[in-house]
Parts: sequence; structure tokens; C-alpha cells
Amino acid sequence: MKIGTKCVQAGYTPKNGEPREIPIIQSTTFKYDTSEDMGKLFDLEASGYFYSRLQNPTCDHVAARITALEGGTAGMLTSSGQAANFFAVFNIANAGDHVVASSAIYGGTYNLFNVTMRKMGVDFTFVTPDCSDEELAAAFQPNTKAVFGETIANPCLAVLDIERFARAAHDHGVPLIVDNTFPTPVNCRPFEWGADIVTHSTTKYMDGHASGVGGAIIDSGKFDWLAYKDKFPGLTTPDESYHGIVYAEKFGLEGAFIMKCTAQLMRDFGSTPSPQTAYILGLGLESLEVRMQRHCANAQKVAEYLASHEKVAWVNYCSLPDNQYYALARKYLPGGSCGVISFGLKGGRKAAEVFMKELKVAIIATHVADAHTCVLHPANATHRQLSDEELVRAGVPADLIRLSVGIEDVDDILADLEQALAAVK
Ligand SMILES: *Cc1c(COP(=O)(O)O)cnc(C)c1O
Repeated sequence: MKIGTKCVQAGYTPKNGEPREIPIIQSTTFKYDTSEDMGKLFDLEASGYFYSRLQNPTCDHVAARITALEGGTAGMLTSSGQAANFFAVFNIANAGDHVVASSAIYGGTYNLFNVTMRKMGVDFTFVTPDCSDEELAAAFQPNTKAVFGETIANPCLAVLDIERFARAAHDHGVPLIVDNTFPTPVNCRPFEWGADIVTHSTTKYMDGHASGVGGAIIDSGKFDWLAYKDKFPGLTTPDESYHGIVYAEKFGLEGAFIMKCTAQLMRDFGSTPSPQTAYILGLGLESLEVRMQRHCANAQKVAEYLASHEKVAWVNYCSLPDNQYYALARKYLPGGSCGVISFGLKGGRKAAEVFMKELKVAIIATHVADAHTCVLHPANATHRQLSDEELVRAGVPADLIRLSVGIEDVDDILADLEQALAAVK
């Protein structure tokens, strides 16, 4: 099946007389005839549902749809993108371990790694996505357990050279984890370029309507944990909390990572989505391909319009030919990148404030990547505690406006920008 068909149909095939849409199984618990039946589930001897903190049929159908879209072997939903990235890393990196991460990542993820996970004893080395092969190799340590990056970084919009980062990870016997939130599997499937684990904030394009916070983790099934037995004891040695199961042996390379993540981390942290929210996500996925095409076509027109406007100082959008990441975008994102653009006005911070006040179609919101066109001026919102010099160092200069182009009629979006730019003196 092609990607557009998978969006609509994958992950759930109703049998004779069953509902066409993924049913919402709004039940915390599940009934069994005997204690023996239930005991087998607790021992991971049989598969089945017993408590929705660990697994729920609605959530599993939606996870299976995303797994099919990414071309993976197993997947799970989490209650947020933050939980997905935390689980994906913590599933293989514990206290005393180390991770190499791109510095061009979402601020929330940077904070999770650099502050909270450091407190838990996991160490990180950050490298720019543009670093040389030598700099990348030098970031590894004997205790490195994973490499992490974002396909298109939020908000700086750098494109990750997935093949190069995968090669470096594999040369050092560790998997590459890629947060594929911005392009979605419609525009890029990191497994096809060597990534081993993919994560998502489904809150963005996948949900698509600014309705449900959520996340997902997908395994390619390709990373050979057993070839690096000593590096990944959590997957290759007995789990005493499950009667000595060895995940990589019992569930194979295709299932071990997600099974361990569900059985241990979801059991203990409980960052599970509600079936209702998972259902909304599944509904959003059905139109994902169509929406991504529209987001990208609209954003391309808006980026070209801004780039040619006399009051605009600069535009950052990887699908513009003069962009620093254009070659990588052509390679990894040939069908389109995403709907998020950043730009600055010649009048700087003051002009940005006037411009934002005048917008009518585009609304001011901290969110990105949903159906509605929205804008944010980080210097006045998410980053308002920083000085102008600190803003430059953080990669969000005081004049930066982040524009998330929605799926409205592009003529209305362009007319809105035009009238707001006219008000800038
Ligand atoms: C938003 C975002 C996250 C965090 O996801 P939440 O669903 O808000 O927890 C992680 N990675 C990227 C790239 C994001 O854009």
C-alpha cells in the first residue's frame, strides 16, 4: 500500500459486521475467565490486555497505523512527545550512560536531556548537525548508548543528515534515534536512511487539529542488540521484574525494544494516552497525507512571497534553493518539508510587534504544525526572559518570527501577511 492508503487504512481492519472506525475502548480493565489466564499475561507468556496503563486496544490500533507509516516492526503511543523522547532514550541509557545528541533540537527535549536526565545520571554531549565527521566521532565515549537528532529541527529548521549520523552511530555499536515530528512519515521515513528508532510528538501534524497532546515511539526492528550484549544489558540479560525474561531473545529484534519500553517504563511511569485522545489521533492520521501536501504547498508560496518582500530581512525555510539545508532537504524531503517557516523583518523586534498585532487570519499561539496558520514571536513569548545577546546565542534572534502555515486557502494567508506588512513603517 502507498502512504496515503496506509494513512486511512493501516492498523485496523474490521471483521464482518465490526465498526468501520477504530472503536474507542474506554475501559481501564479487561475480564478473564480464570486466574491462570490472567497470570500468563502478567508473566508476558501470553499477549492480551489487562490494564490500560500498559496497553489498550484503541491505542494499539493507532500505534500500529503509525508503525505502518514509518515502516517499522513495533510501536507504542505515549501521552506526549516529551514522554516519547524520554522513554526512547531511557529504555537503553541509564545512570552512568552517555548519549550523543544534535544541538538542533526542540527546546523541551534539550531541557529534558540537559537538565532532568542529567539529574538522573545520564550524560549528554551535544554536537551541531553540521559538525565534521571527526567532531561527530570525537563525541562518542565507551559508555555511549545512543545518538539522537531531529529530521527537521524545531524551531531552527536545520535538516539532519540522517545517513551520516546513522553511520557514526553504527560505527560505535549504538542505534540512531530520530524525532520525525516535523516532516511526518509522509515526507520522510528515517528508517529508509538507516535510523533505528523513530519518535514523534503526535501533538503536531499527526493529530493535526490542535486537539490532542500525544507521542509515539516506533522501532525499525533492525538494530541487533544481541551483537552488543554488554552495551544493552536491559535487552540482553534477564529482567528479574518479569521472571527472568530476556527481551531480545523472547520478542526478537523486531519486538524487544517496544516490549521492554511498555513492560517496564509504561508500567512504572504510566505516561499513557487516553483511548479518547488516541482515537482523535487516529482520525487525524487519516487525512495526514492530504494535509501535509497542502501545508507544504502553502508554505512554499508563503516562503517565496516573504523572500521577495522588501520589508523582509531574511527567510529560513529548507525548501528554498538558497537555504543552507536545501541540498539535504532535496535528498531527505523531496516531496516537501513542513509548514513551518521563520523570518525576520528589516525593522527588527519593533517591526515584528507591529506586524503580529495586525495579523487576522494568522493567530498568535505557542503551537505549531496544525491546520490553523499561527505565529509566534519568541522574543516576546517563549524566550522573553532572555536579553538580545542571549537570544542570538540561543539561535532565536530578537527579530525572529515563527510562522506555522496552515491549510487555509493560501490567497487568504498571503493577503493577511500583505496587509500586516503594509502596517510596518
Ligand atoms: C512539540 C515537540 C516535542 C514535544 O512534544 P509534546 O507533545 O509537546 O510533549 C518534541 N519534539 C518536537 C520536534 C516537537 O516539535
